[in-house]
Amino acid sequence: MSAIYPGSFDPITNGHIDIARRGAAIMGRLIVAVLDNPHKTPLFTVQERVDLLRKIFLEDSNIEVEAFSGLLVDYAKKKNIRAIIRGLRGSDDLAKEMPYGIWNRQLSAGEVETIYLTATPALAHISGSIVKEVATYDVMAIASMVPSVVLSALKDKLR
Ligand code: ADP
Repeated sequence: MSAIYPGSFDPITNGHIDIARRGAAIMGRLIVAVLDNPHKTPLFTVQERVDLLRKIFLEDSNIEVEAFSGLLVDYAKKKNIRAIIRGLRGSDDLAKEMPYGIWNRQLSAGEVETIYLTATPALAHISGSIVKEVATYDVMAIASMVPSVVLSALKDKLR
């Protein structure tokens, strides 16, 4: 079975990587899908994020990386995939994720289900936005939260 793990991944953190690998292990095949969101101004372009993700998952034969835009259910339909993976760090994520899960089920007439994986406790405090904020002041402070390719990319971007 295949699943889509969608997100902004701006940038990808060790928390995202953990969810992606665990998702791929139970589903069989996972597409990490970078949302091209015209309403957000990201730090990394979609192409930069796709390139970073492809480097990180180079050796994971069950993980692919793509960009998508538009409605997630339309992308899922196009790919013929019925499962979405999302990560839950705590009650805030649950409150935010629930309506999306319901919407995606309704919009797809019950075809697309969302499967939630709980965060690994040691990684549950990591978020792309806090990583970006802290890195602006002290890039080395986030060294243990992102893979080395992302740390280098952040150093270049924030120089
Ligand atoms: P979005 O912009 O849609 O919130 P993100 O790139 O922030 O997407 O995150 C994608 C998914 O990964 C979301 O389901 C989010 O809850 C999950 N996630 C983010 N960080 C972590 C983490 N540290 N541990 C587990 N799941 C996480």
